[in-house]
Amino acid sequence: MKGFLQILGFLNILGGLITGIATEGWISFIIWVSAGIIGSSIFFGIAKIIDNQEVIIEKLNNTLGVKTQGGKLYAYKKCTKCNNKIEESYTSCPKCANREFE
Ligand SMILES: [Zn+2]
Repeated sequence: MKGFLQILGFLNILGGLITGIATEGWISFIIWVSAGIIGSSIFFGIAKIIDNQEVIIEKLNNTLGVKTQGGKLYAYKKCTKCNNKIEESYTSCPKCANREFE
């Protein structure tokens, strides 16, 4: 997703540049290139946000016991016996039936 957005950003700049050259005229060239850069900044911005979000999720995963599954965020607890990661709502470990969690 991030790579795809970056490619779209580059294509947007390239498209603006090509259109600017094709229109023949300094003012329209500047307008098209500016439009390309402005438009691509949106794609690069979203790519940056996704990048930051992945870092935040990774940090949450290491400190607060949060994991992502199918793009959704889940809280989990860790079994003290087998270190199995279990959904917050479970009262005992499905692997070893232990009832104590970290
Ligand atoms: Zn267990």
